[in-house]
Amino acid sequence: MQYRIEAGKCTLQDALDLYSAPSLFSLADRLRKRAAGDTVTYVINRNINFTNRCTGTCRFCAFRKPDGYILSISDILEKTRAAVRLNATEVCIQGGLLPDWDVSNYCEILEDIKGEFPHIHIHAFSPMEVFHAARNGNMSIKETLQCLKKSGLGSMPGTAAEILVDRVREEICPEKLTTHEWIDVVRTAHRTGIPTTATIMYGHIETLEERIEHLFIIREMQKRTGGFTEFVPLPFMPHNNHLGTGRQGFHSIENLKFHALARVLLYPYIRNIQVSWVKLGEKLAQSALKCGVNDLGGTLMEENISRSAGAANGEYMPPQEFERLIKEINRVPQQRDTLYNPITPL
Ligand code: SF4
Repeated sequence: MQYRIEAGKCTLQDALDLYSAPSLFSLADRLRKRAAGDTVTYVINRNINFTNRCTGTCRFCAFRKPDGYILSISDILEKTRAAVRLNATEVCIQGGLLPDWDVSNYCEILEDIKGEFPHIHIHAFSPMEVFHAARNGNMSIKETLQCLKKSGLGSMPGTAAEILVDRVREEICPEKLTTHEWIDVVRTAHRTGIPTTATIMYGHIETLEERIEHLFIIREMQKRTGGFTEFVPLPFMPHNNHLGTGRQGFHSIENLKFHALARVLLYPYIRNIQVSWVKLGEKLAQSALKCGVNDLGGTLMEENISRSAGAANGEYMPPQEFERLIKEINRVPQQRDTLYNPITPL
């Protein structure tokens, strides 16, 4: 198996064996060190969720509100100004699906931000939003992505992936894009010169085998396009949504095991494995850094989606706090930009 791990060729049986092996954490930690050294990165950014109205019906969603808000362009610019005042290098923009929005609405947000802040990196619009914009505007995915890029899109969050297995998607988000459509949007983004992250929302109705299948899809895509900047495991939050009724969140150790497994199965193709401090909390995020993780994600400044579903870990972690968490475990903190270039703090 050692040969297959090194070569990025683990099989399903290897993955199942690794998941119950006592050596999983130490193996993941060794591969983390080989891929990314002792540096732990983070980015100063801000989330802007421009609307919580949505025509979607995802059963895990606690964010959508029928009588919710829609931010105006001046609200979005004001939030961007506040982020820039705190030295943010990125704004991350996502929202619900508005029935009459097409690519022009999404481009307007990008152009207005770039008009005032030409240097800020805009990390925006999930594959579902791109799919929605293309469908509403009767355009191809490629044309839609080209317009967004021209208007200033720097990279995309690889959200809306949930579990990339249609059996699961039909149960938890039947109206969302299919596995094939998600792959198509993301692969087209990579080929258009738009890098993306990769995510998974795990810990609900999926089996371990289906979680592994998801990791293998990401690994195969990365072999072909090289367009993923990082992989972010996102544990399912069971509060205030239909899917969560009667369910508990994952146990801490299971969360750590999954982060470790992701490091091993995605090695050597994906260098950066990120932990979500918003979902796991500070302490568990710090533990994940010893189980294969090398990135703590963003400061955020505003977090609505996980909080709606019961996450209780605050909406802003200042850079000093990241630095403290990292130094406490004898690792080296490094501020980065969205594409993992190091940044010297001001
Ligand atoms: S997860 Fe996104 S697409 Fe699904 S209902 Fe919620 S806001 Fe809409």
